Amino acid sequence: MEKGLISVDRWSGESQAYFLTHLHSDHTKGLSSSWSKGPIFCSRLTAKLFPFKFPDFRLSLLRIVAVGSWHSLSLLSSSTGSKTVLQFMAIDAHHCPGAIMFLFRGDFGCLLYTGDFRWEVTSDRANLARNTLLNALNGSSVDILYLDNTYCNPSHDFPPREFTAQQIVDIIASHPDHDIIIGIDSLGKEDLLLHISRVLKIKIWVWPERLQTMHLLGFDEMFTTKTSLTRVRAVPRYSFSVETLEGLNTMRPTIGIMPSGLPWVVKPSEGSDNLFGSLLTSRYNISKCTENGGARTYKSNGSLGSTERFHKYIYSVSYSDHSSYSEIENFIKLVQPANMKGIVSSSTCYVDPMYYFGRLCGVNQPAQRLRQKHKRKESDEITLVTKSIFGRNISEELVKKLARNMKVKYVRAQASRVSSRRRVRCGAKILEDDCRD
Ligand SMILES: [Zn+2]
Repeated sequence: MEKGLISVDRWSGESQAYFLTHLHSDHTKGLSSSWSKGPIFCSRLTAKLFPFKFPDFRLSLLRIVAVGSWHSLSLLSSSTGSKTVLQFMAIDAHHCPGAIMFLFRGDFGCLLYTGDFRWEVTSDRANLARNTLLNALNGSSVDILYLDNTYCNPSHDFPPREFTAQQIVDIIASHPDHDIIIGIDSLGKEDLLLHISRVLKIKIWVWPERLQTMHLLGFDEMFTTKTSLTRVRAVPRYSFSVETLEGLNTMRPTIGIMPSGLPWVVKPSEGSDNLFGSLLTSRYNISKCTENGGARTYKSNGSLGSTERFHKYIYSVSYSDHSSYSEIENFIKLVQPANMKGIVSSSTCYVDPMYYFGRLCGVNQPAQRLRQKHKRKESDEITLVTKSIFGRNISEELVKKLARNMKVKYVRAQASRVSSRRRVRCGAKILEDDCRD
């Protein structure tokens, strides 16, 4: 697409129209209450939530996009001066309230920008989105897929939220005399909290701004700001730490639950060689999953007694609003893009979806070459690390053996780097140049 026409989740530079997938901070960096560059296209719910995030924003700049129908926009080509028509459709991204994907088509071809998304095959909402997308494509192909590649690594496979929400309920129920704190963001994970509230028949404490958001979303009864009414509190993620939990436990027995697609790891305390972390493998075991026509069936494999708990006060449960590796794979198989690009990016860390899924695209050969290039780089790096640890006087064979043993750790470290860099991400100014990387 020609430069200067549209931007998605990107607020620097000049475009004729701007598109916002959802209101998480890593997608609104550069957007402010004083925005005046041009109209912003977003979902109705995002528009409703906008004033909370950006007080005094000129709401007349928001253009609400109804989900599931085509809209068109006339733009002006800066190179030819002629009009060009952009058609676009919003599709439910099933990520956080208001989150949508955008499908664009025009002279430039067909582009799909997922924003952050969750693609659970067991979910009715995802199936509805799937039908909407297939109908919109109507057999035509996607030229470039801009993909939420947060968990674009085979080590990130986790069950649907419905399953892990029940795990969290079980953890809470098995600690009847404990206070519970759950780390959440300022938007998202509402369905989890509602599930806990409904099943355990308890209210959930949230901080005052979060209560306003809950009321805006229509959840009036289940949340409170009075600590005396409940033992379950949803707290801002930034306040969730080992130190917080240790402090709380000096007053009352308390456990913390961090819902996340990544195992939660904290840095060791000073002077300690131990790396504290928490990881709940517990009742979900990927090897116990069965495939049923492409859909996995998740089975419980025991009680909480089988839970691995790396810190005495903290559980980390794989409840994620992003697609797992296998869901990303399903999505790419469905869309079959000619090319794709991850939207989680930074100069130092980037999991290129072509590395794992290039074989599913219409550009197999370059993808294969890319994969081989990555493999070489990975192998070289492991060997280098091994040599630097053990010195150069050991045999090449031993270096290779040690490198093989280190490979698992290397892959995990890569995943960890993705996580730590996740905040450094940006949207896309959609240019043809972007496709050539
Ligand atoms: Zn998000």
